[in-house]
Amino acid sequence: MDQRKILLIIFDGLGDRPVTELGHKTPLEAAPKPNLDWFAANGMNGLLDPIGPGIRPGSDTSHLALFGYDPMEVNTGRGPFEAAGVGIELQKGDVAFRCNFATVDERLTLTDRRAGRIKEGTEELAKALDGLKLGRVKVVFRAGTEHRAALVFRGKGLSPKVSDTDPHEEGKKILTSEPLESKAKATAKALNLFTREAYEILKDHPVNRARVAKGGAAANMVVARGAGIAPDLEPITQRLGVKAAGIAGVALIKGMFRAVGMDVLDVKGATGGLDTDMVAKAEAAIKALKSYDLVVVNVKAPDLCGHDGNASEKIKVIERIDQMMGHLKAHLGPDVVVALTADHSTPVAVKDHSGDPVPVTIFGEGIRVDEIPHFDERSAARGALGRIRGQDLMPILMDQSNRIEKFGA
Ligand code: ZN
Ligand code: ZN
Repeated sequence: MDQRKILLIIFDGLGDRPVTELGHKTPLEAAPKPNLDWFAANGMNGLLDPIGPGIRPGSDTSHLALFGYDPMEVNTGRGPFEAAGVGIELQKGDVAFRCNFATVDERLTLTDRRAGRIKEGTEELAKALDGLKLGRVKVVFRAGTEHRAALVFRGKGLSPKVSDTDPHEEGKKILTSEPLESKAKATAKALNLFTREAYEILKDHPVNRARVAKGGAAANMVVARGAGIAPDLEPITQRLGVKAAGIAGVALIKGMFRAVGMDVLDVKGATGGLDTDMVAKAEAAIKALKSYDLVVVNVKAPDLCGHDGNASEKIKVIERIDQMMGHLKAHLGPDVVVALTADHSTPVAVKDHSGDPVPVTIFGEGIRVDEIPHFDERSAARGALGRIRGQDLMPILMDQSNRIEKFGA
């Protein structure tokens, strides 16, 4: 059997619910998207529950599932993936957190959870915090994409069982981290100490003075969440016997790629933000398919619009995704099996991830094409793939690309 290549494109948070202002259509149903529809019309379609029906996935757990791992078994918190994504080599015993640069008032009440979506100066701010000593705990701190950052505590006797300092909602006070087990006391204490020191160091930092002088939000606080220890995952290269690479703008997803043993390909213009160059990503994927068996692309933009509750922006993003798919349609070789899906729904009405299943399309030579003309949530429900779990996708793709061993004689 001829082995084929696999291209998996994950549109982050693309799934949605019907929106009143869109005439009770979802953004996918409302957006003109001839190329996405072409892939659906010439492919096999279905719905996918990233983790399971009714489970609200994180991007980390969902990506693990889409890569074929059991997220219930291997998830050790999101912090380690974020840290790996910004290039921190985790050591045994390290505890890692996902962080945001944020804005607080003098009473440490959160006024902007993303510090005005800060884009510039975060490297300098991170440098001011990197290398801090909190008693016997050493701090490693790196800036990620936009307002995101990663914090690692290095030292003896640390535990990831501590609560977040991130209140997750503006208007609320920064939380005090609490130990969730008795041996986590020192870690919680270090996190609270870090939070106070970060505020003292950042509030008068030149980067923030300049931001405030221009009427912007000072990135004067760091909020932490998702504590975890480095996970021990069998590399996908061994599990599936494929040479794999990933393309993403955001650090968390790059960290997910690294954690499962994929090569991370850097693409100029792939920012992980709304301004990301999607066609450049498609171009990079086509190139990568020449030397890799499996290429995964994450497009973060739809998730951002979902969190912002912005339906019209989400439609615009879908139109840009469609241009990217047009580029792929024109340039993909016949030896590639393509899968289009999302890691979860981020409905604009919810402004967060929901447990709604997402559409999935598998396209390629010899696929059992069904009669679904559109790539959207409700059309997909009538497709030949039926309803699958995130974890089912990789085995199906391995089979469609003739890469799987026979079970039995
Ligand atoms: Zn996501
Ligand atoms: Zn999200």
